[in-house]
Amino acid sequence: MNAETVLRSEITCPECGHSAVETMPTNACQYFYDCTGCGEVLKPKAGDCCVFCSYGTVPCPPIQTGGECCAA
Ligand SMILES: [Zn+2]
Repeated sequence: MNAETVLRSEITCPECGHSAVETMPTNACQYFYDCTGCGEVLKPKAGDCCVFCSYGTVPCPPIQTGGECCAA
């Protein structure tokens, strides 16, 4: 059961500390994210599949549901 899947995650920019709540797509990982504070293009840290796993308060939906991330 995955009714508890959270689709909103707060991303915090490692460059400027700005945070913004973003809605995560359920069918694809988001690899790039433009910081709304400083304009920096964020990319996942090594080993992470998407920017939400690296910088968000909530990991991406595939991880939440216990599956592999979409990064094949
Ligand atoms: Zn920033």
